[in-house]
Amino acid sequence: MVALGIAIAAIILFVGTGGSMMPQLWRAWFHGEAPPDLLLTNAMLLNIALLLFGWRRYNDLQREVRDRRGAEERARELAETDPLTSCLNRRSGQSAIDAMLATVGSCDEALAVYMVDLDKFKQINDFRGHQAGDLVLVEIARRMRALLPPEAVLARIGGDEFICALPISARSPELAEDLASALIVTIGEPVKDDCLWLEITASIGIATTSDLADDTPLDADTLVHRADLAMYDAKKSGRNRHCRFELRMETEMRLRSELEAGIRSGISAGEFQPYYEQQIELETGELAGFEMLARWHSPKHGLVSPDVFIPIAEEMDLIAPLSERLIRLALIDAKSWAPHLTLSVNISPVQLRDPWFAQKILQMLVETGFPPQRLELEITESCLHENIGAVRAIVTSLRNQGIRISLDDFGTGYSSISQLRMLTFDRLKIDRSFVAELAANANGAEMIEAIISLGRSLQLPITAEGVESEEVLGLLRTMGELKGQGYLYGRPEDAATTRQRLAAQGLLIDVAAPPQPTAQPAEPPARRKAG
Ligand code: C2E
Ligand code: CA
Ligand code: CA
Repeated sequence: MVALGIAIAAIILFVGTGGSMMPQLWRAWFHGEAPPDLLLTNAMLLNIALLLFGWRRYNDLQREVRDRRGAEERARELAETDPLTSCLNRRSGQSAIDAMLATVGSCDEALAVYMVDLDKFKQINDFRGHQAGDLVLVEIARRMRALLPPEAVLARIGGDEFICALPISARSPELAEDLASALIVTIGEPVKDDCLWLEITASIGIATTSDLADDTPLDADTLVHRADLAMYDAKKSGRNRHCRFELRMETEMRLRSELEAGIRSGISAGEFQPYYEQQIELETGELAGFEMLARWHSPKHGLVSPDVFIPIAEEMDLIAPLSERLIRLALIDAKSWAPHLTLSVNISPVQLRDPWFAQKILQMLVETGFPPQRLELEITESCLHENIGAVRAIVTSLRNQGIRISLDDFGTGYSSISQLRMLTFDRLKIDRSFVAELAANANGAEMIEAIISLGRSLQLPITAEGVESEEVLGLLRTMGELKGQGYLYGRPEDAATTRQRLAAQGLLIDVAAPPQPTAQPAEPPARRKAG
């Protein structure tokens, strides 16, 4: 403003004085006439200087304003877009969806929101480096943008998570799924990194405004959350697919968070207890040992089956502390059993990823004074698909100490004979689904016989799980020397009941009795699952 005032004043002055001064000066310089008054001449020169100064200042100000506008524009862009893919970011994406929601007014129109999550993207970052990961993200974003109509919102809201939103016709909601299929196809085309083709797939969750049957207020947050739940379902059902939101997903998620919180607090509160299932020499009917099976006495959900809480504890990375607590309790319990009785414990594949796993087990054996020769670890076939070198190192060091390793649930996984030979096992446990077939139909026997002969050729003793009836027991007895376990011999029982059972058979030895946990209820006749 000051510069503008000075410039205007200078212009008025210049017009006022310059009009008479300039001709006089001209004549003085070129025709030798008397010069104008010196004071006036200086005033005019000063006036010209002021004009020049004003002009420069005006230009500087113009530039400053331009630069500031540019910087503001850049800052806004940075705040709203993801610098890697140039998509919108989470905040601006959600605002854009809210803006879209405001315009989707007519009952013919609906808004579809997609949560797109790349499958196993971490592996690309881990194995090919972050540069390759960035390349994939940029390429996938480009392909999605190319597929989506221009009015669609595309935002990257996390490492490998994108959201898309676009209006669809409420009369043909299946179109929303067609677009999801097209997204899966375009994302699934390999991405070239140097001379290597990277394979990537995506799981997509869809939520549309037309399928919200309840009264939840519609905003971007709700839609994105629901698309996220649907995406989680797509992952659970095997990845590389899309799923539409259903209200049951919200209930399931609520139960799941309750279970997660319950498991977390239940571990330290001692709500997890070892139960014991008898393992029998089928030939003689003698007790050979027990398999420890975890039970959760949840104050909220009652007695919860391990089929419910073990997978959640695995995902939460709590399986190791949970399992170690249970194994320690079981070792203390089993110390007072007759010395020929073995203790089997189940080990999760997640635990075998810990390079210190063998040391932890050995340390527990030392601390509790339980002989390693009486301990059997049951691992499942899925461990064979993990880092086999690391698993083999763990198994070898455990076997060197005298601990035996069984292959659990045999026949349910997809291990090949060559994979089986990569690890040395001490026993095969035939999954109870095959034993159930034995009772159900004639072909069942052929299947079990095939597994038994495979076990024999690998020189492995065999345990049959799930022996429920005398009829099955009779059939198994004809098939050779087997161990067996199942409801025919009783349900898994808590430590105190197991002690009573052993005491009645004279199979308890005189060790300092372990501190008795508060009496636990016996397992109800039917296994109960949470929810
Ligand atoms: P699993 O290792 O196959 O254990 C045998 C399961 O079969 C047990 O179920 C047992 O109660 C059940 N069962 C025993 N006899 C019969 C029968 O005659 N008929 C039928 N239908 N079922 C029978 P549970 O205790 O619910 O355990 C389920 C699974 O949870 C176990 O399967 C095991 O894989 C896992 N699990 C249990 N405790 C632990 C643990 O401490 N750590 C780990 N990682 N997994 C565990
Ligand atoms: Ca088992
Ligand atoms: Ca089993």
